[in-house]
Amino acid sequence: MEPINIIWLEGQGCTGCTISLTNSSKPSVTDILTGIIEPVSSINLVFHPAVMPSWGDQAIQILRDAEKGKYDPFVLVLEGAVPDEKTAGSGFWCMVGEDNGKILTLNHWIDALADKTAVAVAVGACATYGGVPHGKPNPTGAHGLLEHLGENWKSQLGLPVVCIPGCPPSGDWITQSLGALVLAVRGLASIPELDEHNRPKFLFEKYAHDNCPRAGYYSKGVFSDTFGEEHCVVGLGCKGLISKCPAPGSGWINGNGGCPTLGAPCLGCTEPSFPDEPVSPFLKPPDGVVMTKTIIQRIIGGLRQAYALQKRR
Ligand code: SF4
Ligand code: SF4
Repeated sequence: MEPINIIWLEGQGCTGCTISLTNSSKPSVTDILTGIIEPVSSINLVFHPAVMPSWGDQAIQILRDAEKGKYDPFVLVLEGAVPDEKTAGSGFWCMVGEDNGKILTLNHWIDALADKTAVAVAVGACATYGGVPHGKPNPTGAHGLLEHLGENWKSQLGLPVVCIPGCPPSGDWITQSLGALVLAVRGLASIPELDEHNRPKFLFEKYAHDNCPRAGYYSKGVFSDTFGEEHCVVGLGCKGLISKCPAPGSGWINGNGGCPTLGAPCLGCTEPSFPDEPVSPFLKPPDGVVMTKTIIQRIIGGLRQAYALQKRR
C-alpha cells in the first residue's frame, strides 16, 4: 500500500478528541497505525502535537517539509476551533510553533497546507463548527474549519471539509471516517456521502432519538422525573429529537454507553449550533416551538408510514 500521511493540527481545543481517539475500538487506532487491517495499512501519523516524539524546531520542520510536498499525499486533520486572528490586536490567539522568534499561528499553517491536502477533516465540535470556543459571546471570533476555508473550498481529491462533530466524537467515528477516506484516496471505495453539514451520512443520517433504547418510553409518554430512572429523559433536557448522532444505537466504547442510553440527556454536541440555542440550556427540555415542529414532523412521518403499509395490503 502506498503510504498516506496524517498531519493532525490542534487549535482551540481541549485534546478531548485525541483522548477519544485512543478509546476507539471498531476499529482501534492501534490496529490502524500498526497496519493490521491491510486496506487501511501504511498510515503514518507524522505530526500530532500530543503524541509525536518530536518537539520544538524538529516538530515544526515536519510542517515546513509538508508545505514543500515531502509528505504527499497527506490528510490534514484539525482538532479545536480556528480563532479570528484579526481580533487579537497586537497579540495572537493560537500559535503552533515559531520561526526564528516569529510566532506562527494555527491559521498560518492551515492556510499553508489546506490547498495541498488530499482531504481536510475537522474532528470534534470545535474544529467542525466552532464548538465551545464559539459559544456566545465568542471573544476570539472562533469558528470551524468549514467556515474558515469556505463552503466552496475543495481538497485535492475534490472534497469539501469532512466534518466529524461531537464533544468529543466517539473514537470509532474518527477511525471509521478516516478509514473510509483512506480507502477513497486509494481508489478502493467510493467517497463517503456527506449531509448538509458535511457529516458522513453513514454515521449521522439518523437522530439520536431514532437510535435510542428509551424511545419506546417516549412513544408511550413515560418520562423520567429525576436522574437515574429508566424512562425517556426529554423532560431532563434531552435534545436527541433534534440532534443527528449514532451514539445511543452504536454505543461509545466497545458498543457500550451512548449518552441517553445511560440516562444522560443528549446535549446536541453534533449540531452546528452547539453549545448555543436550540440545544442549550442543556438541562431544560427543547423549547416549545422546536418540540411542536418535531412532533408535527413525526406525525406526518407516521401518517406516511401508515399510508404506505395500507397500500401494501
Ligand atoms: S431519552 Fe432523548 S433520545 Fe431517548 S427517547 Fe427520550 S428524547 Fe429520545
Ligand atoms: S447523544 Fe447527544 S450529547 Fe451524546 S454524543 Fe450524541 S449528540 Fe452528543
